[in-house]
Amino acid sequence: MRDFDFLEPPTVAEACRMLSDLGDDCRAMAGGTALMLAMRQRMLSPTHIVSLARLDALRGIDFDPVQGLRIGALSRHCDVARSAVVQQHYPMLASMAGRLANPQVRNQGTLGGNLCYADPATDPPGCLMALDARVVLAGAHGERVLSMQEFLVDYYQTALQSDELLREIRVPPPLPGSAGHYARFLRTAAEHRPLVNVALALHLDAGRGHAVRLVTGASTAIPTRATRAEQLLEGRLVTLAVAAEAAAMVAADIDTLSDQRGSADYRRAMVGVTVQRSIAALFGLAQQ
Ligand SMILES: Cc1cc2nc3c(=O)[nH]c(=O)nc-3n(C[C@H](O)[C@H](O)[C@H](O)COP(=O)(O)OP(=O)(O)OC[C@H]3O[C@@H](n4cnc5c(N)ncnc54)[C@H](O)[C@@H]3O)c2cc1C
Repeated sequence: MRDFDFLEPPTVAEACRMLSDLGDDCRAMAGGTALMLAMRQRMLSPTHIVSLARLDALRGIDFDPVQGLRIGALSRHCDVARSAVVQQHYPMLASMAGRLANPQVRNQGTLGGNLCYADPATDPPGCLMALDARVVLAGAHGERVLSMQEFLVDYYQTALQSDELLREIRVPPPLPGSAGHYARFLRTAAEHRPLVNVALALHLDAGRGHAVRLVTGASTAIPTRATRAEQLLEGRLVTLAVAAEAAAMVAADIDTLSDQRGSADYRRAMVGVTVQRSIAALFGLAQQ
């Protein structure tokens, strides 16, 4: 690994100024789980690392019934999984964070680092998209708030400008009847990363789902909302046949990745299976 200077700015403004001044020679570092691997493999060779460790503004997890949830970008996956407010108000998010990767990565990797690296084979982006989350970016010239769809641009590419940091993630407050289900499909039990994942969020009223958000992740370059299937499920009395119809729709519409971990056709088939199981589980149909 190439030598680098390690910078530890005490404020967000100072960190953004460093990122702006140093440009492409510089990388921000949170937990380092992705960055250090990329540097060891010489995929990245920054001359300067800007550590985010002293930036208290990027820490903490808070909930307000009106504002919703705020997760500081430096929150580790284990912090999200263990947070009492996340467990109480966003159980799908807590469940996702508690299952991703392995204990070492969950204890070191941050949610912010996960989103900024934009690796497709990850869990939080799709789950947060289903929850209609926003990201707050802080830059040398102020802050901006983006939806997950606006933030995630492509394979390993986000809307972050070179002077910007991800400051926090915001999730709207849950409405009465909010329900969600997150499922991840692994190619083998020994593998940590998902080949496919599915996040389904909606409001249940008299057994019918409203404001349905169905997102597939890991199988596409960036998570994809299954809008046709969402419309099919909206307000419907969902049976196993409806779940199968929605799953077939998602599988037909999706533009799946193909790589050494799985072909596009295999991913497409597993997307269908995972969507069907998720709908059945959320609507309590699995045991019928
Ligand atoms: C063995 C292994 C298994 C894994 N399995 C899974 C899995 O199953 N599911 C899953 O979702 N993920 C998985 N991951 C990915 C893991 O979640 C990420 O590596 C981790 O969350 C990255 O966070 P970090 O704090 O370590 O980021 P870092 O490595 O510090 O940074 C990653 C990138 O994000 C940038 N960055 C970090 N924080 C910010 C910020 N606040 N603002 C702007 N830029 C920032 C850095 O400059 C860098 O480019 C796995 C990783 C490993 C190593």
